[in-house]
Amino acid sequence: MQAVILIHGGAGTLFKGQISAEREAAAREGLQQALAAGVACLEQSALDAVEAAVKVLEDCEVFNAGRGSVYTHEGLQEMDAAIMDGRQCEAGAVAGVQGVRYPVSLARAVLQHSPHVMLSGSGAVAFARQQGLQIEPPEFFHSDYRWQQLLQIRDQDRTALDHALGQDEKKSFGTVGAVALDVHGALAAATSTGGMTNKRFGRIGDSALIGAGTYADAHCAVSATGHGEYFMRAVLAHELSARLRYTGQTLEQAAAGALQQVTELGGAGGLIVVDAKGNWRMPFNTGRMYRGVQTLTGSGEVWIY
Ligand code: ASP
Repeated sequence: MQAVILIHGGAGTLFKGQISAEREAAAREGLQQALAAGVACLEQSALDAVEAAVKVLEDCEVFNAGRGSVYTHEGLQEMDAAIMDGRQCEAGAVAGVQGVRYPVSLARAVLQHSPHVMLSGSGAVAFARQQGLQIEPPEFFHSDYRWQQLLQIRDQDRTALDHALGQDEKKSFGTVGAVALDVHGALAAATSTGGMTNKRFGRIGDSALIGAGTYADAHCAVSATGHGEYFMRAVLAHELSARLRYTGQTLEQAAAGALQQVTELGGAGGLIVVDAKGNWRMPFNTGRMYRGVQTLTGSGEVWIY
């Protein structure tokens, strides 16, 4: 068994050359820093590791989570996040929160300091204040790049709005996530996102839904990115764990099979998964997925395409 952390910064259909060199460099830098932050916690706990890694990515403006989250149709940034501890299958999640600097830490506070699994909207933000978590003004989260993305599709007709999430050229998912196996053999997963550009206000994606975009148990830890509506319908992350438990499939087969179910429904995206032995996989059915991996003793590796 080898303690390890995997991270992703979202999948998308843009190929090499379609992303500016500056954004690509910033993304690589953010991924490396997130790996470093996560690996530093692998001797404490997998839960600490995934939270630490995701916080770095939430602070990095190139990713669609925390600062730099995408905009809703109304021009707001509503964020979703979830975290899960595989040891006891304990979970915390938040949906549609505004102004919370680290949504993943709010999800963890829900896990540790509330009797609930999921809080949403103003109730979640009130809980964040009560827990003393950092709240920031809208300007803190603003990204010109994300705003331009919204303007490009927002003013299309109603039909386009309804289908905006499905347009090929808009399939750019910058959600972030991490999964880890710590030195004690515990698994954890976390995912954080601004959701999808031009989403209706109040829309909640798979990232915050335990079993869909985020899941961890004694067998594996999973975090997904992609068109959330499809990942929810495939209950992707739990599906992957169930395949490992009930079918005798290898991790590679279970990961590919679970993603195939999303693909068959018409969904685009990818996932990262680590099992209790430290085996890992990062399949995606899109042109790229920002991703990285680092073992406790190894050096970090990051990839985009
Ligand atoms: N899965 C996220 C959502 O649907 C989007 C993404 O992965 O970028 O909210």
